[in-house]
Amino acid sequence: MLTILHGNLLHAPAFGTLETIPHGYLVLEDGVVRGLFPVLPEAYAGCPVTDYGESLIMPSFADLHLHAPQYVMMGMGMDLPLLEWLDAYTFRTEARFEDTAYARRVYRQLASDLIASGTTRVSMFSSRHTDATLVLMEELERAGVTGYVGKVNMDRNAGLSQETTEESVSETLRWLEACRFAHIRPILTPRFIPSCTDGLLEALGELARERDLPVQSHLSENQGEIALVARLHPDCAHYWEGYRKFGLWKEGTLMAHCVHSGEAEQEAMAESGVWAVHCAASNVNLCSGTAPVRRLLERGVRVALGSDIAGGDQLAMNRVIAASIRASKVRQMETGEAFLTVPEAYYLGSTAGHAYFGGGGFATGQPLHAIVVDDGEMPRPVRELRLEERFERAVYLMEKRHIRAVYSEGRKVLDRR
Ligand SMILES: [Zn+2]
Repeated sequence: MLTILHGNLLHAPAFGTLETIPHGYLVLEDGVVRGLFPVLPEAYAGCPVTDYGESLIMPSFADLHLHAPQYVMMGMGMDLPLLEWLDAYTFRTEARFEDTAYARRVYRQLASDLIASGTTRVSMFSSRHTDATLVLMEELERAGVTGYVGKVNMDRNAGLSQETTEESVSETLRWLEACRFAHIRPILTPRFIPSCTDGLLEALGELARERDLPVQSHLSENQGEIALVARLHPDCAHYWEGYRKFGLWKEGTLMAHCVHSGEAEQEAMAESGVWAVHCAASNVNLCSGTAPVRRLLERGVRVALGSDIAGGDQLAMNRVIAASIRASKVRQMETGEAFLTVPEAYYLGSTAGHAYFGGGGFATGQPLHAIVVDDGEMPRPVRELRLEERFERAVYLMEKRHIRAVYSEGRKVLDRR
């Protein structure tokens, strides 16, 4: 069935490119994008039109790194460095998700918060609990969120949240058997090298190979963590080699942070098709540093953005995009590396994340992932704004109440009209 959305169309088809079509037409066939037009072609005359008037229609957000159970501890413990923060807050909070009824309450709220904030694609860490992870997947599916979720594996240095190696492997198998969701798929999730024994990493590497499963983890976030990895794997000259050793470093592996990845690590990422997920808010909150995003991109590494709640303090990806711009400006002041512009950072937080899953946003032939933003209630400026200016303001100021509608995988999943 053909449907048409009418409004001010904005998207970032490439890094650094912003395309605008004032009062344009977005043509969909069964939820799949057929084209964007400044004037409606004759062939589509008579098709039903959803008229969003002066609103902005733009690709939705993709959050490629966040920890679902940490949703309940957002904005807490921000004065601690990473390893202490994990012990004092994170592992205790995650242990609570043994209780699936509790998980249901939290994850239902998280899923609806994601959609209301315009995030329709995720790659998410759950806790180590198989049943709570399945509840999370179910709640995301129900709300209209798409993407990957991983049951976390950790059999050392994980306090209350620790599993035995055997448990970790058998529970991962039980979880994989039970994953039957249309839009939410499993991703193998060793938490990071310090919390996984060699035996566990080896078993997960085999699973990744045998079942062709994607992998996500953390890399070179913080100096204390890097020193710990070097002690645990004295045979590896660099952090990333710990993942490669066990077959977890491969095309499409998502590595959060990469704040302190040196040249060799960056090159290994580009060569192997490993993605960096930049989590600027989290990196600043935990005093980890500012990631070399532009250097990574120049080297050919694919980069997307993550909220990394609760190291990150904001779930809304437009805030995460703004945080990544701010972090890049600090980096420019410190190193001279040019900061990220608004269209560049928006590209990383939307188009790049959609591309990880094979496309989306406004890409022709792909199911629509979009938000409709009504900026009419934002402060009235002294003159009429150009669309580019309204876009910039929306990125910095947008709140849930401004998002009128959300489309995910071609389906309308939120409608506030
Ligand atoms: Zn993380």
